[in-house]
Amino acid sequence: MSELNKSEVYSGKYLGVPYEIRHWSCGGEEFWNYYIFLIEKQIPDGFKSAWLKGRRDGRHVFYDYYKSWISDLDWHMGCTFYEKISGFDGADKVIKVGCDYAHLYDEGRHYELNDIETDAFNCIQSLIDRTRVLKWCAYCGEYVENVDARNYCEKCKSK
Ligand SMILES: [Zn+2]
Repeated sequence: MSELNKSEVYSGKYLGVPYEIRHWSCGGEEFWNYYIFLIEKQIPDGFKSAWLKGRRDGRHVFYDYYKSWISDLDWHMGCTFYEKISGFDGADKVIKVGCDYAHLYDEGRHYELNDIETDAFNCIQSLIDRTRVLKWCAYCGEYVENVDARNYCEKCKSK
């Protein structure tokens, strides 16, 4: 017996912060998730306290993200996902955090992509309200205070 699930992934940036939306189906039901990416170099003040110490229990590693400021962001029914996706062997640290639309509360409710996207944008806005979020320069790839309309930093704007 095999089970095949389909999922669609949308990704983008809002106010410079990367996000991802996932739409998937399982057993004839549809589910949504949205995630935002916390990048160490992009949130220099808030990142350290977001890089949580994990606790292994059985086959899984758990993080008490519900005790951290991450859970205070504007989530749909709370943050339910936390994963360190980069930061090992010297790589830049990145955490993927997110929430889901598969709660009992959501039964019978219908969502469209733009509903989830609006919620993701609000979540990113709550991150910006909470901590300093730098912009990414599309030319040199550094995170800086400000970029111009082309997403170039002060140093790169004459390029
Ligand atoms: Zn630059």
